[in-house]
Amino acid sequence: MPLDPVSVASRVEAFAAACRRAGLKTTPQRAEIYRELARTEEHPDAETLYRRVRKRLPSLSLDTVYRTLRMLEGRGIVSRMGTIRERARYDANTERHHHFVCTRCGLVGDFHCEALDTFPPPVEAGTMGRVDSIHVELRGVCRACQQKRKRG
Ligand SMILES: [Zn+2]
Ligand SMILES: [Zn+2]
Repeated sequence: MPLDPVSVASRVEAFAAACRRAGLKTTPQRAEIYRELARTEEHPDAETLYRRVRKRLPSLSLDTVYRTLRMLEGRGIVSRMGTIRERARYDANTERHHHFVCTRCGLVGDFHCEALDTFPPPVEAGTMGRVDSIHVELRGVCRACQQKRKRG
């Protein structure tokens, strides 16, 4: 699912502004890694980003991709999905949002829902600690996979 060029451009612009605020240099490598993340809604992992960006920057190393993503995550410029143990997948969408995950093909789609954002944390979870935000992950079968199944 590639994003439309206008949205990509505004994400890239926001990235440059966030780097300036954080006092980070926007090196060509950082900019390319971010641009690749910004142009998709796939929530790719570091290896996927590495394979794609390497086509344009052959000198790029996987280690640089990991370090860049961790650094950007630490500054709140990108967000990371899932828990520590899973293979981390990254997201250029740092606005509050929720995910639809396809259990067949692994597609992760973003959706916004104010009702979920303002949903009070369940009391059952409150005994475990302080709740800072609620992120809902819906699992199911995406439309493309449903079509595939119908066609046999
Ligand atoms: Zn699917
Ligand atoms: Zn997302």
